[in-house]
Amino acid sequence: MKVILGGLAQPATSLANNTGTWRNYIPVFLQKTCTGCTICAIVCPEGCVYSVEKKKFTFDAKYCKGCGMCAAECPVDDIEMVMEEK
Ligand code: SF4
Ligand code: SF4
Repeated sequence: MKVILGGLAQPATSLANNTGTWRNYIPVFLQKTCTGCTICAIVCPEGCVYSVEKKKFTFDAKYCKGCGMCAAECPVDDIEMVMEEK
């Protein structure tokens, strides 16, 4: 991916920007106490959280950068961040 002077990416390149390579921590969606509130999907800066069925959410590891926003904002602590082994 070409990055221009100043560190800005070209427009309309988010799909090509594999932000999953930035990650040290990875979320674990426990899928035990989820209420289906969708907050995790709303706050994810990469837009990579999605539901697989009612009250079960997961994420796309290709774009998850491990920021922990989803875990921090989940009101029922149903997401844990763990160190990712590489
Ligand atoms: S924020 Fe937590 S409770 Fe809400 S949808 Fe996501 S995992 Fe479920
Ligand atoms: S850790 Fe950050 S980038 Fe990854 S799914 Fe959660 S909010 Fe999205």
